[in-house]
Amino acid sequence: MPTPRVPRQADFRKLAVFGGQIEGAVALDDLPRISAESMESGSGAEATLQLQFRIDDERYKVIEGRVQASLSLQCQRCLGPMTLPVDAQVHLAMVWSEEEIPSLPQRFEGIVVGEGLSDLYELVEEELLLAIPLAPRHPEGECALRQTVESDEVADDDERENPFAVLAKIKGSSS
Ligand SMILES: [Zn+2]
Repeated sequence: MPTPRVPRQADFRKLAVFGGQIEGAVALDDLPRISAESMESGSGAEATLQLQFRIDDERYKVIEGRVQASLSLQCQRCLGPMTLPVDAQVHLAMVWSEEEIPSLPQRFEGIVVGEGLSDLYELVEEELLLAIPLAPRHPEGECALRQTVESDEVADDDERENPFAVLAKIKGSSS
């Protein structure tokens, strides 16, 4: 049985007051910033989520749970497709504005939530993006490029694309 899709929007603050849960799936194609990273658009791949909303002992309105997905990304070493399993633990506390986030206890990430409906898809997208490494790569031994060859080539590419890196190299070699 396919996992039912979750609604795009939900009233996060109300859910916390009533101790609500949201479980289900989101199509990765509905998350534009994930689709942009993905090598497999239109595949019907999904993220699944289990989120518990509640008010904790310190009166924070919190969202806890996990977001899971199997993302098809481009390996930044061999440029071939790779699968990144993501299992993101969610520990969010709701705040009214960005300014409140630094004063939250360490165990929370902050999420700005106003009155009324919030975008659940955006929450899922944010959690997935945070789980993607800056330069995703195949694990050692699974990459099409051997490590010894790759490290030199990648370095050369980076320097060609970045004029400042070239400048730094010139400076470095003259000293
Ligand atoms: Zn690779």
